[in-house]
Amino acid sequence: MAALIANHALNPAGGGPALEVVALGKSYAGQAVVAGIDFAVPTGTCFGLLGPNGAGKTTTLRCCLGLTIPDSGTIRLAGRAVPADAGAARARVGVVPQFDNLDPDFTAHENLTVYGRYFGIGEAAMRARIPELLDFAGLTGKEHAPIQSLSGGMKRRLTLARALVNDPDIVFLDEPTTGLDPQARHLIWDRLKRLIALGKTLILTTHFMDEAERLCDRLAILDHGRLIAEGAPRELIRRHIEPQVVEVFGEAVANWAQTHEQLGERMEMAGDTAFFYCRDAAPLLAVLAGETALRFVHRAASLEDVFLKLTGRDLRD
Ligand code: ADP
Repeated sequence: MAALIANHALNPAGGGPALEVVALGKSYAGQAVVAGIDFAVPTGTCFGLLGPNGAGKTTTLRCCLGLTIPDSGTIRLAGRAVPADAGAARARVGVVPQFDNLDPDFTAHENLTVYGRYFGIGEAAMRARIPELLDFAGLTGKEHAPIQSLSGGMKRRLTLARALVNDPDIVFLDEPTTGLDPQARHLIWDRLKRLIALGKTLILTTHFMDEAERLCDRLAILDHGRLIAEGAPRELIRRHIEPQVVEVFGEAVANWAQTHEQLGERMEMAGDTAFFYCRDAAPLLAVLAGETALRFVHRAASLEDVFLKLTGRDLRD
């Protein structure tokens, strides 16, 4: 592992959290988009901010970075007050935005060099640093590649490498794997786990519950600008949902599910699937064994079940 990336865990403000948000509020046109939220991210952990579209995630992250000025509340990032001291805080932070905004006219090497300038890193220092950044991103040999020639996964990894130019202690990632195929996604997860192992603090938003479950020590679910749940992924599953789920599909499943509703603690229809949430699925499985027209999947409850229970199944555009 490259020495420049592997250096240290931050100890901001004498051991305080990497990020602390208290009573954060932001409205647009009289509409509360962030409606008084509190959370803290301990140094060296990965924190996930989940929520349906429009929940207020990006606004929250923008406030934390000093890019949007909140109406109320306090934020401390890397031990600094934001927005008052956002510049100093951001010197310790890397950002992977939702959409890759690499300069298409520059090569990978040039993109990293230009970004380094924002942090006052000179060309010689960047020349020394770039090989290890590209190595970390699995892009060795691509330094002179034009951006257009890189795949979506490569661009994402280059954006991640760019976020590490200033050797940040805290990395914000807004939907880091949206639009990537499974192979590219796994590669990003691997790199993010490496950063966590190095003591970095990661703060990410994602729509992928398996991503949140794999990476996050703790996460918060935001809806309509409010935090509606917070905890470790396993803890949230234990707290909010029955441990077993049986998904039943097939012809006329809706009628069948209604007449067998009592076999689960809860039953929900979504499209042509009946979701039975059960403390003990054995009685339901015994009945299903005799139903040749129905197919089913029996599985452990997941974070996605928690998310759908708390935020509902209605589409948010
Ligand atoms: P999320 O990231 O969870 O999808 P956002 O924070 O982007 O949510 O948006 C939350 C709400 O705030 C949305 O309804 C969005 O339209 C609104 N919003 C965000 N930024 C602005 C802005 N600059 N001006 C007006 N409304 C905004």
